[in-house]
Amino acid sequence: MNPDLRAKYEAVIGIECHVQLATKSKLFCSCDNDSRTAEPNTNVCPVCLGHPGTLPVLNKRAVELALQLGLALGVDYNKYAKTGGLHTKFDRKNYFYPDLPKGYQITQFDEPIVPGGAVEFPFEGGIKRVGITRAHLEGDAGKLTHPDGKDYSLVDLNRAETPLLEIVSEPDMRSPAEAKAYAQELHNLARYSGASDANLYYGNMRFDVNVSVRPIGQAEFGTRTETKNLNSFKAVEKSAEYEIRRQIVLVEHGDKIKQETRGWNEAKGQTYSMRSKEDADEYRYFPEPDLPPLVITSEMVAQAKAELGLLPTDLRTEMAAAKLPFNEAEVLVSDPDAALLWHEVVTQDPAQARFALAWLVGDRVRLTQSIGLDLLNTSVTPTVLTQVGQMVSDGQLSSTNAKALLEYFYQPDQRETPAAAAKKRGLLQESDEGELASVVAQVIAANSQASADYRAGNQRAFGALVGAAMKATQGKGNPALISKLLKTQLDRDAV
Ligand SMILES: [Zn+2]
Repeated sequence: MNPDLRAKYEAVIGIECHVQLATKSKLFCSCDNDSRTAEPNTNVCPVCLGHPGTLPVLNKRAVELALQLGLALGVDYNKYAKTGGLHTKFDRKNYFYPDLPKGYQITQFDEPIVPGGAVEFPFEGGIKRVGITRAHLEGDAGKLTHPDGKDYSLVDLNRAETPLLEIVSEPDMRSPAEAKAYAQELHNLARYSGASDANLYYGNMRFDVNVSVRPIGQAEFGTRTETKNLNSFKAVEKSAEYEIRRQIVLVEHGDKIKQETRGWNEAKGQTYSMRSKEDADEYRYFPEPDLPPLVITSEMVAQAKAELGLLPTDLRTEMAAAKLPFNEAEVLVSDPDAALLWHEVVTQDPAQARFALAWLVGDRVRLTQSIGLDLLNTSVTPTVLTQVGQMVSDGQLSSTNAKALLEYFYQPDQRETPAAAAKKRGLLQESDEGELASVVAQVIAANSQASADYRAGNQRAFGALVGAAMKATQGKGNPALISKLLKTQLDRDAV
């Protein structure tokens, strides 16, 4: 598309995100919330199959996790305290679909558990704020598959009634890159708050992206489309860009944009029409008669607050104070286990901030991939990482040997101290000044030509002497100390 034409229009983007809450059981019954290893339609019961006569019982843990995410989104629940707490209730959303056995979904319509909030994240040198309209608790539908070339579809109800929090944003984003950054930050918040595993591959988080375009300067919104079920940040960005261009072409031709639900074809890089979008009144919402209203008391809020750990904003503040480079700090923030370990290390010794960062975003990623073991299942505790960093600062370990030592600790149940493990494995650096001084003297004597060249001003000759001394210590000499001793002795002998 002609860049001038593209620049005539502004995109307006809002995102709805379904987050699967990390409970043990489903939202209204005791079936397992995780069906990854279950055969289709085995992780079900009369409640989640919607059999007549059964009654839902609300999962307390789902409410707690939703509150934790609500707090992470900045909701001030305390302001409802004077009216006895935030009043929420459940509603029936009526529609027929083969993956919905009850013929309706239990969700929340006008009194959601998360009545607002915002997501704030660094974007292009500033801080972008995207408002949250609401987030509501609801049960998921089952899963349909359409086998290639067959005239039937398959339905698996293992996922039916698993607990979701649907987070609806304000239409505050103006570019596909902003939409992607918002999705990434929501992914961070879902994990830091403990609300969800947020595993995109397993569909723990799915994004529906609403896009419309309008000529720059026009106040009213254009007609929007919704691209559903995106499960990667890249798909959020690419599908939004595709929709923007498609809509601009339609508007330029004087065609009407249809308000509709669209899908995303990853291979073709295109969105496609699925169905016309229903309006809220077509769902005939009414209060769910089988569940009592839910009041969020200050006790419930206090408990959720107590469970909530550090959030991305807290870590960014700490990392900026430690003067970490922005891009690497963001890589660390996107990896909660590593970022929280970093936080523990700097709590023990602020001087190890950079050492810990370098290992956590560097060699550690390689180890996780090659060994297939998560950081938390290894013996690299905050104390181990701090002490290894300190041994490097003290000149006891070379940076190469520090990596080797941490690789040794990258296994379960390794209980030695780093000092003991380094000694046993011959990784310690020789920093005994007297011993190294005599090695250096021998090296100078044995390499008289190089020594003379250095004194004549040849810097390369100095490198050769350092190399010879390192070789003489079998690589264990502290290179900084060897270099210092060599200089002192060569300069002294020259006089
Ligand atoms: Zn069930």
